[in-house]
Amino acid sequence: MTTSTLSPARPTGRDVPPLLPVVGAGTAVPLATGGTATYANLDNAASAPALTTVAARVAQVLPHYASVHRGAGYLSRVCTALFERAREQVAGFVGARPDDVVVFTRSTTDALDLLARAVPAGGRVLVADVEHHANLLSWERSARTTVVRGGADAEETTARLEAELASGRYAVLAVAGASNVTGEVLPLRRLARAAHAAGARIAVDGAQLLPHRRVDVAGDGIDWIALSGHKLYAPFGSGALVGRRDWLDAAEPYLAGGGATLDVGHDAVRWAAGPDRHEAGSPNVVGAVALAQACATLAALPAGALEAHEAALRDQLVRGLTALEGVRVVRPHPADAVGVVTFTVPGRPVSEVAAYLSAEHGIGVRDGRFCAHRFADSLGLVEGGLRASTGVGTGSADVARLLAALERFLTTGPELEYGLVEGRWAPLTDARPAPGTFLDPIPGRG
Ligand code: PLP
Repeated sequence: MTTSTLSPARPTGRDVPPLLPVVGAGTAVPLATGGTATYANLDNAASAPALTTVAARVAQVLPHYASVHRGAGYLSRVCTALFERAREQVAGFVGARPDDVVVFTRSTTDALDLLARAVPAGGRVLVADVEHHANLLSWERSARTTVVRGGADAEETTARLEAELASGRYAVLAVAGASNVTGEVLPLRRLARAAHAAGARIAVDGAQLLPHRRVDVAGDGIDWIALSGHKLYAPFGSGALVGRRDWLDAAEPYLAGGGATLDVGHDAVRWAAGPDRHEAGSPNVVGAVALAQACATLAALPAGALEAHEAALRDQLVRGLTALEGVRVVRPHPADAVGVVTFTVPGRPVSEVAAYLSAEHGIGVRDGRFCAHRFADSLGLVEGGLRASTGVGTGSADVARLLAALERFLTTGPELEYGLVEGRWAPLTDARPAPGTFLDPIPGRG
């Protein structure tokens, strides 16, 4: 049985279909009330489903899987070529300079941590408190770091960073291209200019920006950019740091081990330069290939298509949410923003609302402080917020379902009773199979 979804809360305007096909679109998920609903994934900012082109590329490459780099066999050489080509594709996607280096990492967190450890001794880092923990704690742990308060909007935050940079005491300015809480986009070219004028370099956390916008590392004067495959429509486990090689070549290797060395004698080790230096151990070839394919598919979109798609969905989200009584949208109208919208619902814990959306409507959103606790607190989200985020696989029907489900929550209330179960809000009666048995039913238990 398929449980029908609610009709849209209010007219949704233009019908916006998904921009690109993603795997898992149309997946039916069980509801706690019985029956199923098509999963509405509005949690793309956390992890986005893989593009079908990525899945096809992975399926094509997997049968040819062999050792990489050190193998003489033909398929080893195929794998090595695929891995090295992936580097070039990622470099091309972000518009890297010819002599930039692409280091494959596990994620954006991994990439920023690597870069933070490469800051020359004594170099001071400037960052604002609006950042995701990945672009805050890595620096604070590894380098001398100054954290300035973010402003009331991206413009004010930018102005504060520029003013602080002007002191000339910074080696690095670290900023997110787009916020994972408000979706606000920062003016990277302007910040790069300000950083360079003050003798600093700029490192960009591209985790939220690159799934939505093209970036031009060389043209904008960005020194490094970090990215994650799983936010860019490739699977988990691959990421990259792209940018200038001098500090990376001078830094301690990120991991010590095979592949990162030129020669290991009894008394001394000669470390490699370039990406090898920081990629010890067997690399994630399939992850790199998947990431490169995602880049190629996004790069092939007509100019402006991504922006137009998400602007329409963001507009639908913000209009619909602000029309709901008592709902507060955080920074609803920034000058420039990607499809990430955070809001609160009056009088109810955000995690109860998130549990309701999943249990009764098959809708996935994020709740909490989004790994940006300092920013969330300064936005008045001490108890957390709800975040809806769109991607290329999102259509206006998904947003309409969210709005209709929230309207029902605010008017008639949830159908089920909710309470804290093992520290998380959950329906107290739940017809769904345990998530751990969804794909692997226990024999005899359906
Ligand atoms: N930076 C931003 C802005 C993010 O939103 C995230 C993840 O949510 C990260 C960094 C960390 O990405 P990852 O978990 O892939 O390392």
